[in-house]
Amino acid sequence: MLDSPTKARIEGMYVGGQWLQTTRHFDDINPSDGSVYARVPDGGRAETRAAIDAAQAAFPAWAALMHTERARYMLKIADVLERRKMDYVAAAVAEGGGWFGKGMFESGYVPEVFRAAAAMCYNAIGEMMPSDHGKISMVQRVPMGVVGVISPWNMPGILTARGFAFPLAAGNTIVLKPSEDTPYAGGLFFAEVLHEAGVPPGVFNVITCSRDRVSEMGDELVEHPLVKGISFTGSTPVGRQIAAKAGAHLKKACVELGGKDSLIVLEDADMDRATSAASFGAFMHQGQICMSVEKVLVQESVYPEFLRAFVARASKLKTGDTASKDNVIGPLINDRQVARVKFQIEDALAKGAKAVLGGRVWDRFVEPTILTNVTPDMAVWQDETFGPVAIVVPFKTDAEAIAMNNDTEYGLSAGVITRDEHRALDIARRLETGMCHVNCSSVNDEPHVPFGGSKASGVGKHGGKWSMETFTETRWITLDRGHRPFPPVF
Ligand code: NAD
Repeated sequence: MLDSPTKARIEGMYVGGQWLQTTRHFDDINPSDGSVYARVPDGGRAETRAAIDAAQAAFPAWAALMHTERARYMLKIADVLERRKMDYVAAAVAEGGGWFGKGMFESGYVPEVFRAAAAMCYNAIGEMMPSDHGKISMVQRVPMGVVGVISPWNMPGILTARGFAFPLAAGNTIVLKPSEDTPYAGGLFFAEVLHEAGVPPGVFNVITCSRDRVSEMGDELVEHPLVKGISFTGSTPVGRQIAAKAGAHLKKACVELGGKDSLIVLEDADMDRATSAASFGAFMHQGQICMSVEKVLVQESVYPEFLRAFVARASKLKTGDTASKDNVIGPLINDRQVARVKFQIEDALAKGAKAVLGGRVWDRFVEPTILTNVTPDMAVWQDETFGPVAIVVPFKTDAEAIAMNNDTEYGLSAGVITRDEHRALDIARRLETGMCHVNCSSVNDEPHVPFGGSKASGVGKHGGKWSMETFTETRWITLDRGHRPFPPVF
């Protein structure tokens, strides 16, 4: 619970409806000023097993509930989230280093995830098939059992909620491991909310650990035989490991990973729309969004005009401690992220890139930075940055812009800005991404749509009926009324 807007008091991990204490704890740091936001239980295998056992024990009764009853729980969770809106905002600001406006956006979105999940409870859970032998041939979707959820720190509210709301509505029970950088906003806050909403003990469990013990806890969660599915959102290197382990145990895993997304600005674009889509897409939450605009590809004839207006717009964004609502650009979440972004800026400048805006790094802060003269040999062209850095690159033809977009192992989202809808849809079709938004930034999400990437950006889709498909088993059940003949020899 929140002691103040800048500190949280942690009751323990949440297992079987109880607050579970541990002897070991770790410091959860406010990235703006380095102060301790909370002391958080540092669990391991034993706590993970206890949570899985609790989830397994709760599974039969939860799965057997009427769909209307599970829908009511989802709606109750949404109501509690709405009542605690400002608590979430305070946590997202102090623990997550997010701008106040970003916290307000997330806290408005998260209840909708649970309302969309409630709606899914009323969807069809099967199909009737024709049968060769006049049987009643049914396809049924049934819950899997315990689902393990591993969530990231950048949008801890949305990405945690999205990871577990639909599997829960489908009748599964949950063990959630939030990021060690946001164990409250992305984990124990949800435990408080679901507890208050009266969700039965064991249906939803939250376990926490430090970065030092994350592979121990993660391995147990993925490999334990009672865990039937994994919902992972995070980086590509960790996602690859999780998917490989889940594959070895023949478990379903939905992994939503990193990105290197482009915004493609065509010569006929509305420049105001193009520069605002670039600025929001590149700098919202310091560029720490998987769908952030990292490459801005601009048609040659409008390149100078675009660059001037983009720099003018981004130079107005203030950087600093998010305790002040004026600071739209807060800190990066941790020193690892700062080192990665600093390296990419320095590598680019050393190889001939030019910083036409920003480039300064201090403490955990990075100014909004716009780089030009970027070439494919630079890390900032190839690798995900996950910081407030945009590169602006000119192109001549649509084919060249498409090739530049596709020149990455990632394939999450993209944006195309033009007045020519036909041309935009043709480009959208040829981009190797899971999502593409015409006349908008690459940063877009809604609870009921198929969210997810292609290539190294992930496998599987989150959202609406796609989540329901991922986190249920499909079964074929038939009822024979004596029509299927067997060979007489039998
Ligand atoms: P991360 O991969 O370091 O951590 C994600 C989660 O995995 C955290 O909960 C972390 O504790 C856990 N984890 C780390 N190592 C683990 C291990 N060995 N076993 C089990 N769990 C482990 O990523 P991050 O730094 O928290 O998040 C940033 C990354 O997430 C970026 O690459 C970003 O693009 C990606 N992301 C993707 C999406 C999407 O929907 N595609 C959304 C948000 C973030």
